Formats: sequence, C-alpha cells, structure tokens
Amino acid sequence: MVPGQLQGRSEQVGMALDTWVMQPGWNFLDEYGDEEYLDKMGAIGVGNLAFGAALPLESNPANYHGSIKGSPPFDFQGQETRILRFLEAAWRRDFGVYAYGTNPHMALSEEVSRNFRTRRRLNADGEVEEQEFTWGTCANDEEYLGFYLGRLRDAHQAFPRLAGFLNDGPEFGYEISPELFGGMLTIFSCFGACCQRKAADLSYDLRRLRVAAAELMRSLHALDDGLIERALRRQGDPADMLAAVAGDPAIVDWFLFKRASIADYIRRLCTGVKEIHPDLEMGIGSRLPAFTPLTAYDLQHLAGHAHFFLPKLYLWMGGFDGLYGTVYRWVATLARWNPGLSEERLLAFLCSLFGFRLPEVESLDDLRRHIRPGFSDTMEITYVGDPFPAAFFSEIVAGQVRKMIAQVGDAGRVRPWLDCHHGGRTLTPHEIDQVLAAAAGAGLRTYLNYCRIDAGNWEVAVKHARQTD
Ligand SMILES: [Zn+2]
Repeated sequence: MVPGQLQGRSEQVGMALDTWVMQPGWNFLDEYGDEEYLDKMGAIGVGNLAFGAALPLESNPANYHGSIKGSPPFDFQGQETRILRFLEAAWRRDFGVYAYGTNPHMALSEEVSRNFRTRRRLNADGEVEEQEFTWGTCANDEEYLGFYLGRLRDAHQAFPRLAGFLNDGPEFGYEISPELFGGMLTIFSCFGACCQRKAADLSYDLRRLRVAAAELMRSLHALDDGLIERALRRQGDPADMLAAVAGDPAIVDWFLFKRASIADYIRRLCTGVKEIHPDLEMGIGSRLPAFTPLTAYDLQHLAGHAHFFLPKLYLWMGGFDGLYGTVYRWVATLARWNPGLSEERLLAFLCSLFGFRLPEVESLDDLRRHIRPGFSDTMEITYVGDPFPAAFFSEIVAGQVRKMIAQVGDAGRVRPWLDCHHGGRTLTPHEIDQVLAAAAGAGLRTYLNYCRIDAGNWEVAVKHARQTD
C-alpha cells in the first residue's frame, strides 16, 4: 500500500482486524464476476468467506441415520452452475469457505419442519402454548440434531473442500415482549415434551421449574420498589436476580437446566462434525455477553467444543435482535405491566440484569430518539434517528467485547458477527467505524463482516482490515 493512501489508516495499523466476509445470499454473483469479487476481498486481506444461503446439494437418505429424510427445497433460480463455478474459483485461490446455509432453519420446507418440535412458551395466563416458527425449533428435539448432522454430511460429501460450518441456534429466548414474533423470543420457554424429556435426563423436574417460571411471570406483572430492591442486591447473576423477583430459588435451576441442555446440544453437534471429518471447523454463534445468560449459551463452558465463536455484535434500535431495541422492549413491556413504576427505576433494574448502563438514557423517549418516530415497535428499516453517543461505543461495546474474549479465553477464537440492522434504524457507516475501533481497542483481532457491502460500509471495512500489501 502506498503510505498515506487511506486517510486515518496509519493510526489503525496496530489494531487492524482479520476480516471475514459473509454473504447472505447468492445475489452478489449477479453484481460481480468471480475473479472481480475475489480480487475485492483479497485486496483487503480477506481470506475466509461464509455463505448464508443454502448450497446446491441433494440429500442422501443414508446420511440421516434414520432421522427425518427429505431434501429441503431451495430456489437457486437456475444459478447452481454459477454457484459451483464461483466456489471452484474461491478454492483455487485458497479462500477458506464456510457454510451457514446448512443451518436447518435456513431452508426448512413446511413438510419437513412440521416434524420438529417448536418451543412451547408459557403465557401470562399460565398456559403453555406452541410457537409456530422455523426459528422456534427447540434444541432439545432429538430429531432436529439428527437431521442437521445429516445435512452437514450431505454438504461435506458434495463439497469436500468446505473448511467448516457456522452454527446459529437453537437458543432459548432472551426477550420479554409477548408481541415480538408472537412471543417466540421470550425467556418463558420451553415447556414442551422435548424439554420434559431432556430435563428428566439431566435430573431436573420441569414441572417444578414451570411453577417457578409462572411465579416469575406473575411477579414481573406486579413489580414494586421492594421487589426491585431485592433483585438489585443480587446483581451480577441474571438468574439470581430473577429468582429474587420471583421469590423462588428454582428460577436458578431453570436457567441451569437451559444451560446444561444447550451445552449438551453444542457438544453433540461439534462431536458429530468431527466425526464427519476431523479437519472440519465449527463456529458457534451466540448473543452478546449481556444476553447469553438468558439464551443459555455459556461460552466459558462451550469453549472446549467449538473452533471459534460468533457473538452477534447487533446493536441497532427497533427491528429485532439489536441491543438498543432489546433494552427498549424490556422497559416498554415492564412499564406497561407495571404502570406505577417509573421508567428510570425499570431502567436501573434492567441495567443490572444485563450488566451495562446505556449512556444518556433515563427514559423510553431517550431510547426512541434513536429511531424515526413511530418505528420503534415495527420491523421496518429506517435510516432516520439520532446516532448513538460516542460513550456507547467506547464503554458498552468495548465492555461487551472484553467480556466475550474473557469468556472464550482466546481472542483468536472470538469472531463476532457484525451486522447493521434486522429491521429498525440501521447503523451508519460512521457508527460501524466506531464499533470496530472500540472492539479493536478492547482486544478484538478478527470479525465476520455481515454488513451489506455498499460503498460506505465497505470503506469502513477497508479502514479496519489487516491488509496484506
Ligand atoms: Zn423444548
């Protein structure tokens, strides 16, 4: 690189990031020639690519070992030959290629997905209700893992040069809003037969845990200053805090059960992949450290199984999956359930539950200002809204990155997914720049760029990349 070619690059050199790029679909093949795309990646030192869409492959029934058979349909729009040609070109140039599209939820037909158990959620009225959504599959459905490993065997046989796979869920919910995807993502799951059986295997009594969860649900609808005080004295452990709210220590057992069942699922998944081929790598997705105690992905205990981890650096307001939006939904829901409590008090409770305090936020309006009016509870994408304050990046983002590295114990194996929206107010290139600067400053060495590669986001990726020239 010519010295001074990129303004602001020099101060980044010491903290430049090994950049991986993930494409959500195959549409990029319409925009780029194979070599043109690979040149663009290679120019900033990208040596590893991931693909979100399904791979063009047929299911071999022998790979499913008696679990559900069937070939998940995926519309390649006649691009199969084009996709194979691109993959050949990438392999010829020694790019590591990782498949995300092998996650069953990416391409489940209704016919196949009906065979899996979706999580059963506890409602406010104490009833357990089925959730219908392909993302709602329960990790404790035995058929699911068998089917998934079948797909991975298919992929390895058809594409033996694949370097590995990226896993995304299933996870337990970490939200509170009954409105978000019909309550699919709330903490109050799963109480289905899948978890009943798993709980018995792991020596937990799910019926007892359900009684405690129902009490937590009731208490969250009847919060007062005394309950919040009691919870705040337990801050540091989210399950302990929620147990204090419910007045029932079995809440801690409930989260221990969730954690044990996820650990068992991930262990068996990673072992299954090693059995397919010992060189295949497995990257395990998770949420930010603020939310993983609720989703039950305990990276410290999973670190021995996976090659690397992909905590989601998802930060936007509104839509779904973003940090600001999650805090907003918790406060808005609890405020609706508890009109007598101030938003400031509820924010204090949630800050302790999640382990961070958002700067310049003391009310719901302080959160809503970051998104176009009327968009905070929708899935719509908007570019309008106040940017997040600088302290959010330097304090909260940096803190979350330090935690994920500490949990895994090796910065080289922490490769967060970075995206800029799933609906809601999209992060601007300047905010993405601040995220990467804060993350690199906190010790991050590598990340997976899942941002749309438009001019602004790509310029930021180039600025932070560890270039080879
Ligand atoms: Zn279940």
